[in-house]
This record gives sequence, structure tokens and C-alpha cells, in this order.
Amino acid sequence: MWFTTHALCGMVLSTSLTNLPWLAVTAIASHFVLDLIPHEDTSYSLNTLFDIAAGIIIGVTLWIIYSPGVPFLWGTLWAVLPDSEVLLQEMGYISRRYFPPHLPAIHGVLRGKRGIAVNLVTAAFFFFLYLILV
Ligand SMILES: [Zn+2]
Repeated sequence: MWFTTHALCGMVLSTSLTNLPWLAVTAIASHFVLDLIPHEDTSYSLNTLFDIAAGIIIGVTLWIIYSPGVPFLWGTLWAVLPDSEVLLQEMGYISRRYFPPHLPAIHGVLRGKRGIAVNLVTAAFFFFLYLILV
């Protein structure tokens, strides 16, 4: 899934989980589950930079409005952290991926507009869920 989608899921988790180690484990697990759902990813390109910028802008905006505290940052960080290996591989620093749902055999793939729609709908779901729960 997109950086923004994972980040929004981490933000939602932070609304109800205040135990930081448990929040970290749950956020990584959320990344695992979301990457199993068939979707279209961005490749290392301008789209990736736009995706990361959108996630950061949404996060900063929610931070300014709600002052959610450390769990918000912590949950968001752990929810997006597994994708750092994707970035490192695409930049040539590592040769393969290790996080199981990033492996081609189980990574959920749905090419084209339907795969993009899955990401958009999932991100919107987490965005509105955050607004409900915060
Ligand atoms: Zn991922």
C-alpha cells in the first residue's frame, strides 16, 4: 500500500493504543495485513515523493488540529517503517526484501485504476476513522 495509507492506519491505531511497545507491534502487523490486500503501489519516482509528501502533510495537519501526542508519531512511524526496505532496495543499497508481505509470492497486486482505487478507498477509510476516533 501507499505510504499515506500505512501512515493513516498507524494514526488510527494510536487513537486507542497507548502502550508504545504494543502500538509498535500492532502498527507493523497492520503493514503486514495491508500489503496482502491486492493494490497498486507507486514505484520509486515522482509518485512516491508525492505519496510521502501527502502522508506528511496529512499527519502534520492532524497534529496541528488535534495535538495527539507521542503515540501518534510512534504509531505512524512503525506503520510506515517496513517500506524503508523497499526504498533502500530501489536505491540500490540492499539486494532483496525481507519483510514477508513485500515478497512477490504473497504481496497483494492489483494493477491499474482498480489497484489505485483500493489504496484511495483504504486511505479515505482510515482518514475518516481517525476523525471519528480522535
Ligand atoms: Zn510495504
